[in-house]
Amino acid sequence: MQLLEYQAKQLLRQAGLPVPRGVFIAAHEVVPEVALPVVVKSQVPVGGRGKLGGVKRAGTPQELAPVIATVLQKEIKGHKPIGVLLEEALEIAAEYYLSLRVDRDNRCVEYIVSWDGGVEIEAHTGSVMRVRTDDPDRVQTIATMLQQDPRQFKKYLSRLEKLFVAQDCLLLEINPLVRTTRGDLVCADAKIAVDDNARFRHQTLKWPEVAAVKPLGGSIGVIANGAGMAMSTMDTIYAAGTTPANFLDIGGGTGEEVFVRFLTDINNLPGVTSIIINIFAGITRCDDIARGIIAAKNQIPNLVPLFIRLEGTNGDEAAALLAAAGISLEPTLAACVQKAKEMSS
Ligand code: GDP
Ligand code: MN
Repeated sequence: MQLLEYQAKQLLRQAGLPVPRGVFIAAHEVVPEVALPVVVKSQVPVGGRGKLGGVKRAGTPQELAPVIATVLQKEIKGHKPIGVLLEEALEIAAEYYLSLRVDRDNRCVEYIVSWDGGVEIEAHTGSVMRVRTDDPDRVQTIATMLQQDPRQFKKYLSRLEKLFVAQDCLLLEINPLVRTTRGDLVCADAKIAVDDNARFRHQTLKWPEVAAVKPLGGSIGVIANGAGMAMSTMDTIYAAGTTPANFLDIGGGTGEEVFVRFLTDINNLPGVTSIIINIFAGITRCDDIARGIIAAKNQIPNLVPLFIRLEGTNGDEAAALLAAAGISLEPTLAACVQKAKEMSS
């Protein structure tokens, strides 16, 4: 998972690295009083924002609100910002590039360093140097390249290395690492990718939902638990001579709110005529699913017909809840597919 810049910077700050003063503001949140000038930075999980209008300066109180609105409106590489980071604007004297990454080929962690960082880094390959973290001379080498006092710089590098390991990072990139006109070093941008396999060790991070609706272009929406169940549901739909509108494995333990969102997403796919819900509940509880279905029926306008096969843990409770809400179940997946096919033709 790639962290957003404001999250990455929180980790850097906690690790004792120099980060500009700043505040994260979620979209639609009220803007607090801030000292100007600031840079307004789009919070999207991709880089290249500077070139695409996702990093803008606001110098006056009159400018601030319109600049924030402009940045929030702008999609960056297909991502809508979830908010903006407002940071004290920097007086930049030099921009360096400094990153740590896992080098799988050589089974080590290495630095990539350039004295010529910033938004054009990809074009500055001539200035780029690689240094392994097990190189005893790395502090001297990197400090020389970035024209820093090695005694000062040593503590920053050691904090970065500790953070990289402690957070199970795959990448920790600071671009630019800025030298200000006053001579201070500041991490002006930060990108951190955490190894998804270490999710269990970093529960306080905001991990994305594991499941997401993958559109497939057909007419029958699918919600199933377990990838195998989702695949076999789609196979059954194809075998009946019709087509699935999406793939979705909701996994275990989907709450009511998430369930409603999934149904909303599928209902919004073009060409959907019905949705099959095929659950064989183990970890998942049928009564949770039933509550999700009832909430969806109440909340989603123009919801297409649902054909539901629901068995397993707390199945009886679920059937009772649904019956009380006037929602019927199908006995088998085949029955669901048959009815869904009739709706689509
Ligand atoms: P990116 O384009 O997504 O990598 O976003 P950055 O945070 O790296 O910002 C892009 C560029 O904006 C930087 O390389 C700077 O040259 C420029 N910039 C101008 N003023 C500032 C400032 O006060 N803070 C930061 N972070 N960048 C600034
Ligand atoms: Mn950057």
